[in-house]
Amino acid sequence: MQPVPNGGDLSEKGPVREALLYEQLPSERVRCNLCQRRCLIEPNQLGYCSVRINRGGRLYTLSYGLISTYRPAPMEIKPLFHFHPGEWAFSLGSWGCNFRCIGCQNWEIAHIKLKGEGEKRGFLSPERAISMAKEQNCQGISFTYNEPTIWFEYTLDTARLAKEAELHTSFVTNGFITSEALDLIGPWLDAYRVDVKSFSSSFYRKIAKVEDFHGILEVAERAKLKWGMHLEVVTNLIPGLNDSPDELRELAGWIREKLGSPTPWHITRFFPYLKLSHLPPTPIKTLEKARGIGMEEGLDFVYLGNLAGHPFENTYCPSCGELLIERRSSHILSYRIEGGSCPHCGRRIPIVEGSQ
Ligand code: SF4
Repeated sequence: MQPVPNGGDLSEKGPVREALLYEQLPSERVRCNLCQRRCLIEPNQLGYCSVRINRGGRLYTLSYGLISTYRPAPMEIKPLFHFHPGEWAFSLGSWGCNFRCIGCQNWEIAHIKLKGEGEKRGFLSPERAISMAKEQNCQGISFTYNEPTIWFEYTLDTARLAKEAELHTSFVTNGFITSEALDLIGPWLDAYRVDVKSFSSSFYRKIAKVEDFHGILEVAERAKLKWGMHLEVVTNLIPGLNDSPDELRELAGWIREKLGSPTPWHITRFFPYLKLSHLPPTPIKTLEKARGIGMEEGLDFVYLGNLAGHPFENTYCPSCGELLIERRSSHILSYRIEGGSCPHCGRRIPIVEGSQ
């Protein structure tokens, strides 16, 4: 745990608010049960994510409503390809992270230290976020850019308001949320776009500083089976680290068996960054081979990402191979699903369509 930067305004109006989902322990220690790290936090110390603090035996979030990024963005950029295609979500990010990925592309917002009540990082109330989404003609709200679990109190309040305002809601997540936190937000969350970075504990330990990834799988299954969320999986394929055919086969088999063969799997191209700068971008042949493994394992929709213009960005009918949705990056070029089915062979295509 880390030392406290300074004191704090414990009013319920600013960014410092009492946290949800923690236990009080003897000697003013607390246990945070929001993510699977389940940090044991001593008085005046921060949790691993640097945005939750123990003050006097009570746990507070320092980041309520502190928004690092907000903008309308297409669902396809998340990527969520089978959830309200062509629609836009008002996309929000805050600060901090519960992972320490050594190739993180969002390091600047994911790894900072907040200073409590003195923060001037742009407070945006949940009410204002909803009205901005409406003003900007978005059909949904998405919590993304940094891990939404660690600013959970804000995402929960905003997701509730979003549903009242008839906006759809989505998490773009590393999946390390606890099952009890998921159950709190479950009624208000429509889509869960989860990274399964690998099927190997040693990879998670080395790349993300996470001891055990199996809880990520269990919570993803819960999102789907208990809460009926729409779910899509992303794996960023890093040369030599998580691209072995056996591991990919295992991952694809888990998706098919636990989440169902219609679950979209996005295999994305890695680009060198930070401590993984010495590696090359993922070769296109490796990505195509990985997609082939997913299809062989019985998945219906396996996509390649970070590869604008590649034919495997498109959606094809799993029965007859008809081109159904043509994409380039986050843009839909043509949409040929009719009445929820393939216009050529009539197979039902499980896509959550909006009213657009
Ligand atoms: S959200 Fe996770 S990393 Fe942050 S304090 Fe809680 S258990 Fe620790």
